[in-house]
Amino acid sequence: MVDPTSDLGEDVTEEDAPVCETCEQPIVQLPTHRVVSSIEDGTAVHLHFCDDDCRADYFV
Ligand SMILES: [Zn+2]
Repeated sequence: MVDPTSDLGEDVTEEDAPVCETCEQPIVQLPTHRVVSSIEDGTAVHLHFCDDDCRADYFV
């Protein structure tokens, strides 16, 4: 159950956080967080990156 008094996204722990596809860092409260959606084998997947550099490295 979600506590209605807490804003969504402020209670993200490292266990819940997405992990950067490139450097495998947990992404917690990172303003540079990037999400890229793509289709793999007909399924939509969301790739998380801690910043633009990691996103660029992944797609080299
Ligand atoms: Zn990264």
